[in-house]
Amino acid sequence: MTISTKPQYKGDSLKKIADYQGIVPDSVLDDIRSKANALQGATVAHVNATSYGGGVAEILDNFVLLMNDLGVRSDWRVLHGIPDFFEVTKKFHNALQGNMELHFSEEELQLYEFINRKFSQFVFLDHDFVFIHDPQPCALVREINHEHPWIWRCHIDITTPNPQAWDFVAPYILEYEHMIVSSDIYKVEGLNIEQSIISPSIDPLSPKNMDVSPEVTKDYLEQYGIPTDKPLITQVSRFDPWKDPEGVLRVFDHAKEQVDCRLAFVYNMASDDPEGVKIYNQMKETAKEHLDRGDVLFVRGDDPILVNIMQRESDVVIQKSTREGFGLVITEALWKGTPVVASNVGGIPTQMVEGATGYMLDPMDLTGFAEKIVVLLEDDDLRDQLGKQAREHVRSNFLITRHLLDYINLMLSLS
Ligand code: UDP
Repeated sequence: MTISTKPQYKGDSLKKIADYQGIVPDSVLDDIRSKANALQGATVAHVNATSYGGGVAEILDNFVLLMNDLGVRSDWRVLHGIPDFFEVTKKFHNALQGNMELHFSEEELQLYEFINRKFSQFVFLDHDFVFIHDPQPCALVREINHEHPWIWRCHIDITTPNPQAWDFVAPYILEYEHMIVSSDIYKVEGLNIEQSIISPSIDPLSPKNMDVSPEVTKDYLEQYGIPTDKPLITQVSRFDPWKDPEGVLRVFDHAKEQVDCRLAFVYNMASDDPEGVKIYNQMKETAKEHLDRGDVLFVRGDDPILVNIMQRESDVVIQKSTREGFGLVITEALWKGTPVVASNVGGIPTQMVEGATGYMLDPMDLTGFAEKIVVLLEDDDLRDQLGKQAREHVRSNFLITRHLLDYINLMLSLS
């Protein structure tokens, strides 16, 4: 596919902190620079399980560059897994987010530990600060002797974990010096480790979130065959049971009874998520008639500018998760001035203001979801007003500049 207007990636356009002038107040940038001065030359490592797909990779991709620009020498290492390992870690992810039916065999637990042990031979993690993201590389802490603080950064919802998974992971967590969660609701009572709250962020200058000209937008929509003749509702997500794509389809059916509209599933596959293809195939089958009628679109969201445009051009973004640590896609849509109708679960209520940036509902309330979507589709002024408020809400709370400052403050406090 040729997108004639596709913005080019150039090495010399790597972002710098100065580029954020005009997006956030100068005082914020001054504060970041002056605090980062105290960390000049400090070395930092981030370790996660994939360089692509999902919110953690999205955040690190932007974050590590800017930390380096600030003189805080930051590495990003990706755990080398194998498919069987990622089956186990996805199972951990599901179990820690509350799937009580899962059970782990001794072999699965050994595989998890073995891959972490093996990876410990591939990396030197003697940095001044080591941030380990999520459960996949959590066991590294036991494999690598360290004198400096190791911090476990939990991005998922661990309020009601499966006991077997929790009992297995908790002893590893306790070997860390510190733990970060995304919201105060995720602080683990009684766990003997200091815990900080740092909410995730989006980068307003990344291809995913930057402003896009009408010319590029038109070109993309044409090239990717996205029709614009009907109001558009979009969910951007990996195909994951917690994102409830089936529920999204049912909500759409209710909404469509009242307003002629179209639904887009924008999806990608993360290399550490083996469930994606299976659920994608199931959904294609379930939505077969919709697809034939052209009511529903499946749009591969590998190009961040396409995702950007889909979030921007949608009349409403839906996020019907049944569990969500912090849904970056919600913040991305709000930044683009698109109101969001989302489930009131996990970290989502910390991301939105009810009635001001969109609406939140019980994930079981399919007709409630549809009603709110219809209210928004039928009222241009309301969408416009909520969209403007949504953008300012993100500017004040969820941009990468605030996130950098939170990490810098934490590192200073641990020094
Ligand atoms: N994403 C994407 N293309 C897609 C689907 C998702 O680029 O087709 C990105 C999305 O824009 C967001 C991240 O993947 O930046 C998903 O993060 P989120 O926190 O919403 O969910 P997670 O996948 O981490 O559970």
